[in-house]
Amino acid sequence: MDTHLIDGKNIAAQLRSEIAAEVGRLSIKPGLAVILVGENPASQVYVGNKIKACEKAGIQSVSHHLPADTPAADLYALIRALNADPAVHGILLQLPLPEHLDPNDFILAIDPEKDVDGLHPLNAGRLMAGLPGMVPCTPQGALRLIKSVRNDLSGLDAVVIGRSLLFGKPMGQLLLSENCTVTQAHSRTRKLPDLSRRADILVAAVGRSEMVEGSWIKPGAIVIDVGINRGEDGKLRGDIDFAQAQGIAGAITPVPGGVGPMTIACLLLNTLRACQKFADHGGQNAGRP
Ligand code: NAP
Repeated sequence: MDTHLIDGKNIAAQLRSEIAAEVGRLSIKPGLAVILVGENPASQVYVGNKIKACEKAGIQSVSHHLPADTPAADLYALIRALNADPAVHGILLQLPLPEHLDPNDFILAIDPEKDVDGLHPLNAGRLMAGLPGMVPCTPQGALRLIKSVRNDLSGLDAVVIGRSLLFGKPMGQLLLSENCTVTQAHSRTRKLPDLSRRADILVAAVGRSEMVEGSWIKPGAIVIDVGINRGEDGKLRGDIDFAQAQGIAGAITPVPGGVGPMTIACLLLNTLRACQKFADHGGQNAGRP
């Protein structure tokens, strides 16, 4: 069987150009505020990439880089100011935070209407309730990649390996809302290879290099690799053994160039939607709960 390569880079580029066109038609410019606390080198690269992507799409981005020893009160004050700023439609708090700052406290402080990462419990609850809200960027992007292969997912068996708030749980909810029969696997799951082999859609978000072997994959399955693992040779690898999956999977995302580019594109989309909602409410936020 020929395995179709799902070209996340290309699909993300197309989405970004559609977003740029929509931004151009708006009467106000969408604004994204990015908060980075400390000097985590990977976070600095991610933030830089997000800011560049905003510029290209015509979204105004403002970066707030705070020192690693920033007191909690200062971070709260910044978030409150950004919540109140009508030029800011999206707020992204880059994680992880330094140890003395509990991310849950600050995610709760972000106005849910500006929570472009979709991590606020209100947005997680909206997703679970099937209500419109901010959907986390990576699972949103992963679903778009799955639907680029097959639009109707109704009745398919989906296995999501991983249950994080950032990815695994919202991915499971999104697939459930597409009428898949979803199994959410995690570190305590028994017989994971057998379980995975039943999946028409197999999504791996663990963070363990090439953990999913070819023999775990059902012939013809759509395989989405979310993992990003840097090997000792400096190369990036996913959670799926990509070479072994060839000829078994029906379609697969590469690492890099699969899910990663979709995350940024969906961040831009969430910012655009937040701005549109703001404009639709006559420049007033829909209101905090
Ligand atoms: P996480 O919070 O560390 O969650 C990992 C999940 O994997 C947990 O639910 C854990 O189970 C499960 N797990 C660990 N070992 C396992 C095993 N042996 N068998 C089955 N499940 C196991 O990670 P995350 O934030 O979801 O990210 C996962 C991966 O995706 C990472 O490599 C990350 O870098 C990548 N990622 C990529 C993007 C992107 O834009 N491409 C975005 C986000 C994340 P327990 O809950 O039982 O501990």
